[in-house]
Amino acid sequence: MDSPQAVPPRLDIGGIANPRSVAVFGASDNKDKFGGRVMHYLTRHGFAGRVLPINPNRAEVLGFPAFRSIADAPKPIDVAILAVPAASLVQSVGECAAAGVGCCVVMTTGFAEAGTDEGRDQQRRIVETARAAGMRIVGPNCMGMISPLANMALTSSLVLEIDRIRTGSVGLVSQSGALMVSIFNRAHDAGIGFSLCVSLGNQSDLEICDFIDYLVGDAATKAICVYVEGFKDGARFLRSAAACRAAGKPLVIVKTGRTPAGERAAQSHTASLAGSYAVLQAACRRHGAILTDDPDAMVRLADLLVRWPTLGGDGIGVVSPSGGGAGIGVDRTVEAGMRLAVLSDATKKRLLEVLIPPQADNPIDLGGRRSGDVAGTAGKVMTPMAQDPDVAALLVVLTTVPFYEATTKELASAALASGKPVLFSVTPGSAADGPRRGLRELGCPYFDSLDQALRVLKLMVDYRALKAQDMHAPPRPGDLPPPASLRGLQAGRLTEPEAKRLLAAYGVPVTREAVAASPEAAVEAAGRIGYPVALKVVARDLVHKSDVGAVKLGLADEAALRTAWQAATESVRRHMPGAAIDGCVVQEMVRGEAELIVGVRRDPLYGPVVLVGFGGVLVEVLEDVQLALAPISPAQGEALMRRLRLWPVLAGVRGRKPLDVPAVAHVLSRLSWLAVDLGERLVDLEVNPLMVRTTGGGVVAADARGMLAALKA
Ligand code: ADP
Ligand code: MG
Repeated sequence: MDSPQAVPPRLDIGGIANPRSVAVFGASDNKDKFGGRVMHYLTRHGFAGRVLPINPNRAEVLGFPAFRSIADAPKPIDVAILAVPAASLVQSVGECAAAGVGCCVVMTTGFAEAGTDEGRDQQRRIVETARAAGMRIVGPNCMGMISPLANMALTSSLVLEIDRIRTGSVGLVSQSGALMVSIFNRAHDAGIGFSLCVSLGNQSDLEICDFIDYLVGDAATKAICVYVEGFKDGARFLRSAAACRAAGKPLVIVKTGRTPAGERAAQSHTASLAGSYAVLQAACRRHGAILTDDPDAMVRLADLLVRWPTLGGDGIGVVSPSGGGAGIGVDRTVEAGMRLAVLSDATKKRLLEVLIPPQADNPIDLGGRRSGDVAGTAGKVMTPMAQDPDVAALLVVLTTVPFYEATTKELASAALASGKPVLFSVTPGSAADGPRRGLRELGCPYFDSLDQALRVLKLMVDYRALKAQDMHAPPRPGDLPPPASLRGLQAGRLTEPEAKRLLAAYGVPVTREAVAASPEAAVEAAGRIGYPVALKVVARDLVHKSDVGAVKLGLADEAALRTAWQAATESVRRHMPGAAIDGCVVQEMVRGEAELIVGVRRDPLYGPVVLVGFGGVLVEVLEDVQLALAPISPAQGEALMRRLRLWPVLAGVRGRKPLDVPAVAHVLSRLSWLAVDLGERLVDLEVNPLMVRTTGGGVVAADARGMLAALKA
């Protein structure tokens, strides 16, 4: 449920972000105290709402009449901010609820995040008290919020020592309070303003998605940044991400706090390879959200996407005042996985008017100019470069240059006039302070590190590709068995033959095989299947069969089969004394040009996911796997495969024939539907290896394993 409120909320999020009045618990003049800093920052930036200091020992604070208790303060009290000691928080929250407060912003720490039963219990009591009254809670363990459009700083952080809070179009929702104010501060220095910054701490009541949803509908917000350690509800996050996409608002996310791989990870490749972060990546891709690992890059990207929502292509133009800068710029751009724009003849001709021949191409080195007028040349170079149809974005590696500030401004204004994104990477230190000032005056984005400039530029390029992908939910294929057919399945580990029967029912090709209870039955089965055959011991507890000598391959005749039976069963008994052996499976020998792993797993937060990768024994070594949220269409399955590093092997390299990609894509789609149909019963199910033949030859599952959960009552 999105709103588990016992009674309707007194205030919606818009009312919380733009309160008519704010009560400050523990208000004081003393900046060494939480309540002192909150008062200072709240009053310093021009908050137009009413300020209500709460302090039994004071008649006034910073010139505002103080109240003995929240009960004495005049109504309405939209928001109360509390940094009271943990021991008295429950009582204070109770008083707020009784006084009709709309929302408590709780900075106090020591609750659920402390990991103690007492902390969790107290947090629960606070939330219960609030919900019973229709009061909302932000926090605890947060740093409050900053509402630039309301000139409201509701935090104790010293980053509010600035003269003025910039307004802007980026909304920032952060679980961490300290990170929120650090990000705010950095962005402020880079000239970036926000529509709203909020920290949620423990997300005890209001959670990250409540604010994402609010910002989606907020006209002042054009891009949304989220720092998160854990979403409370994966499905809700997916809905919020989809809403951002529908509203055309980029959603940029930094996520930490990856959960350790679960208990079962050791038993299944799919579980260890499809860890929660990898699944979040897939979820973000599915819904067009951008995931990055650096908070600064997140905000810089959001700012750029507000200014330049779409790239016209993926060609990058590189300009530098020096050959060294141009050289480094080009190498690093290409190494970062981006493409250098190919300039048209017309552009090159225009460049030749001001540059000597070798320089009149991408990358441009201003050093190769014909005239002594450096600043003038800069503009004449940048304009045609920026206007070239294949240049989608510009990177300027700004080394020193004569008439530094003037030349920089010429470069920047000409680039900005083109309407295409331009990023400056400023190479020198203090010598470039003048040019930096010039860039700030022009509102031209710059970075003090080439790494960061490239990272953000690459994210822009990737975002363009992300938006272009097929994000449709695939229709359910008509020839799948009804989900009800899965009802009778037993919980627990599936043996290879059981897993394969399940797969076969969903249209995944598997080896022809038969389970035999005795060597005689095995011989009889092999006669039907045809030699050579493979023999594998069937035992429920057996996970990695070849590790314990339970797999015998290429058995040419009856004698080999009998010997193999003996050896394999003995080996399993030796390695796993007491294991219940159900016999052996006899199967056809199959071959493929590549061995893939394909699997599905149910993620506790985001539901069923499907995985494909290069498998066999090298699966963990190669770590070449890709994930998607299930279900997927065959076309989406193929798109997933194209993301594999070893995709060229599937596509056919160096005269090798291409492999049957459509057959793998079909299997991925089928598996993804099986995962959907198994629902909560699915733990994981994987095929390793899936033998892949050349185009038209199809695929076949040579091995399979799986685990099902018990049906919930
Ligand atoms: P494990 O439980 O150890 O993964 P597998 O059934 O996957 O056991 O067998 C190990 C390897 O043997 C496979 O990776 C594959 O290379 C090969 N193999 C298994 N079954 C067959 C088969 N029917 N035909 C050809 N090769 C097979
Ligand atoms: Mg295997």
